[in-house]
Amino acid sequence: MSRPKLAVHGHFYQPERRDPFSGEIAPQPAAAPYRDWNARIDAECYKPNAERGNLRHISYDLGPTLATWLAANDAATHTGFVESDVPTGSESDAGNAMAQAYHHTILPLASMADRRTEIRWGLRDFELRFGRRPTGLWLPETAVDLPTLRILADENVRYTILAPWQAAGGRIDTGRPYRVELGGRRHIVVVFYDAELSAAASFQSDATMNADSFAHDRILPRLAELAIRDGAAPLALIATDGELYGHHQKFRDLFLARLVNPSSDVPDRGFDVTTVGRLVCDTPATAFTVAQISERSSWSCHHGVLRWTAECPDASDGRWKGPLRAAFERLASAIDVVAEGLAGDFMEPQALWRARDGYVDAIFGVETAEEFARRQLPLANSEQRDGFKTLMEAERWRLAMFASDGWFWDDPIRLETKQVMLCAAKAARLIDAAAQTRLESRLVGDLSLLSSPSRRIDGAGIYNEALSDAGQPTA
Ligand SMILES: [Zn+2]
Repeated sequence: MSRPKLAVHGHFYQPERRDPFSGEIAPQPAAAPYRDWNARIDAECYKPNAERGNLRHISYDLGPTLATWLAANDAATHTGFVESDVPTGSESDAGNAMAQAYHHTILPLASMADRRTEIRWGLRDFELRFGRRPTGLWLPETAVDLPTLRILADENVRYTILAPWQAAGGRIDTGRPYRVELGGRRHIVVVFYDAELSAAASFQSDATMNADSFAHDRILPRLAELAIRDGAAPLALIATDGELYGHHQKFRDLFLARLVNPSSDVPDRGFDVTTVGRLVCDTPATAFTVAQISERSSWSCHHGVLRWTAECPDASDGRWKGPLRAAFERLASAIDVVAEGLAGDFMEPQALWRARDGYVDAIFGVETAEEFARRQLPLANSEQRDGFKTLMEAERWRLAMFASDGWFWDDPIRLETKQVMLCAAKAARLIDAAAQTRLESRLVGDLSLLSSPSRRIDGAGIYNEALSDAGQPTA
């Protein structure tokens, strides 16, 4: 007799804070008593959750840029994340952890080539970090459309997690996983999380004061409700930011420990705790009911993906978002055209883009950029290899500038937007130096088309402020 199940997923991710020029995080006084926000969130959340063994009982994704910081700054906690990915069930690949698209880019807003690179980098980073190919991938902001899911299926990703309002028609019974048909005999499993329980965990701090009451008063009645509708042993999935557990809300690492790994004095709660990977990988995908998704939707904007590209009604004034994206898209196209031209002496365009998809190995550090260049271009001379390495670095920062954080908040004056502007500056300057182009001055011109709602400063001014804060010459 199978019992109702609870799964908890934590999306562990932080906006990238390392300056692309120095590789360092500038001290952030607001994070006191810690040096910067990464250090503070680590102490409040990542470290205690790893130490308490919570990760062994939940599903999680650890964003590659955050994972890189963690590996360098708190190796023990990073190891905790890696070692909590316990193979379970009948298949050894069904561990706790999921991959994440590399730079936390809103994939439905990206070009086809960029989507593929972001996904391949995320999968490869996971493989290098966790020592196995991932079976699931977390889409940044759960932003989804069918072309993105087709890439996942082509890369042998078997499942992802979405919000219930991302099902076509608005709402779906979340008591079980579904299969989404992608055409060409491809499909992917989607687990829709429970909106009510996830919102209670995220936003109602009184609900998570006590794990025993949360289990008894909220989870159990919800599972009973789902069982009446579905007839079978239902699943409730709570999916939130991982930082909820200890950072967004104090001491919730203790709440999570008691919820997912109760001590022996806790009487049977009437449901079992499982992970999304175990649940999905123990069942053939064809056994799941078919669902359809709502194209270009996400978990943190109820207007599709407007939050990251246009005037989402939730922002008091989002008029800067469109011009910022347009400026970056023009820069990205220009960089790609110049890169193909520069690489034309020693490689075919297709080979250049294939190389970009593999460059994550050099970023991860399993080989040096020079070794990577020698492997890609065995016949090239050292000058050509240097040119190639510059192009790969320019492409890296041109991908990083699309991190969703730059558009998430209401004002481009914030550090998150300055951060993506620094990535754009780094990419433009690498290309301008290599090809004697003037991409940066075009970028600055385009950035002057947007302005901060709170300060009388345009995007070009913000860009120069970011450069000057980073100790770089302004444009
Ligand atoms: Zn919105």
